[in-house]
Formats: sequence, structure tokens, C-alpha cells
Amino acid sequence: MEPKYKRVLLKISGEALAGETRTGINEDMTNKVAREIKQLIDLGVEVAIVVGGGNFWRGRSSKDMNRETADYIGMLATVMNSLALQDALLAQDVPARVQTSIEMRKIAEPYIWRRALKELGRGEVVIFGGGIGEPHFSTDTAAALRAVNIGADMILLAKNIDAVYSDDPKTNPDAVKYTDLAMKDVIDRGLKVMDLTAATICMENNMRIQVFGLAEENSMVRAVCGENIGTLIK
Ligand code: UDP
Repeated sequence: MEPKYKRVLLKISGEALAGETRTGINEDMTNKVAREIKQLIDLGVEVAIVVGGGNFWRGRSSKDMNRETADYIGMLATVMNSLALQDALLAQDVPARVQTSIEMRKIAEPYIWRRALKELGRGEVVIFGGGIGEPHFSTDTAAALRAVNIGADMILLAKNIDAVYSDDPKTNPDAVKYTDLAMKDVIDRGLKVMDLTAATICMENNMRIQVFGLAEENSMVRAVCGENIGTLIK
């Protein structure tokens, strides 16, 4: 198999790492994700990753807490997930680094753009932890921004659902499944793909996004070889 895309940014939500239980880290699930990432590295694809933190905490869901504090807790949650994924990759002999937007040098490198490029070029997976390091943002926005920063060919957006739909197919049997979309339509129709800040960054930088379901086997490798395995947004 010949990869069509040489450098990709994979965004995995925190919930994806939690598997069925939906909270915390499910090691079987994390190992499965790491195995799929290894397939990409074996094909010679450069892989950067942004992991969410929703399996532990989301700032916007807090009740009385100061929003900035709540968001910093969310950012720390993404670092926990990043370390778990790094560990699973290393266990499979895939070299992997964690770079955090908020410095925590005992456990990760600080985010340094040029260093990230160098590591990617050496075939190392670079996991960006801590989102963009600012409250009021999401890891979707971090994924969009880092994808642009590193000149990724595309974002692989792993979801708990296999594609983008006009409505929730679990509650609406008439929901239409989209295979191709323009980012402008995603924004205009308010489709739930990523938040508006992230969507705008992608649109302004012509970043294409492959939405796919993490549950399917070999989904990542098929996506980098150019197969539309869910919804392709251009
Ligand atoms: N967060 C933040 N700034 C960022 C990235 C994340 O404040 O740049 C916080 C925010 O509270 C968010 C939480 O981290 O709710 C977890 O990230 P996200 O909700 O994007 O995770 P996901 O839903 O993808 O698991």
C-alpha cells in the first residue's frame, strides 16, 4: 500500500481512549489505537497527535468553578491521555514524544515547533499535550492549529461514530450520512464536526479533514492511502 498523505495530524477525543466505560483510560483501547498508529509509521507516514481530555474533565461542563481553573484541569487531563498513548506506542517499539503547551519538563518536552518537525522527520510520533495551553479553547482547535503549524497534509479526525450525519442517527433514523463536505457547509449548517474556531482555522488554511470511526479496523491506514472511510471535508 502506498500512502497518499505523507504527514498527518491525528485527533483522538478523550472518550475514544476510554472505550465502553467512557471515563478514564481503557488500556485495551489505547493499545488498539497505538497498533493502528504503528501501521502508519511502518508505511513511512509522519504522525503527529492531539488527544482530548473529555474522558476525565471538560472545562465547559463545570458548574461553579472558575472557568479558567476548570479549563486548566481539562488541559492537564489531555496530558494524562498523552502519556498513556506514548506509553502504549513505546511498548510497541514506536518512538514517541510528548510535547506540552504548558511546561512540565519532568514528564514531557515543551512544545517547540522546529523540534517537533525534526522529530517527525526522524519517524517519531509527536503527541501534543495540553491543547494550545489557553483556557476557552478546545483540543479540536489545538488539532487544527498544530496541523497548520507542522504543514500536515490532512487531519484524521477519529470519532465514536463512523461519519458526519445531518442529525444524530441514533435518535433520528432519517439522518443523512455525508461522504463529502465543504468546510463552509459544515459551518453554515452547524454540523457537529469540530467547534467553530477549529473549523475556521481549517477553512482559512485549506486543511482537509477525514472523519472516521475509530471502531473500524485499519481505518487510519486506509485513510492515509486515500480511501474515504467516512466523511471527507475539504
Ligand atoms: N482545554 C483548554 N484549552 C485547550 C485545550 C483544552 O482549555 O487549548 C480544556 C477544556 O477545558 C476542554 C478540556 O481541556 O474541555 C478537554 O479538551 P476537549 O474538551 O477538547 O477534549 P475532547 O472532547 O476532545 O476529549
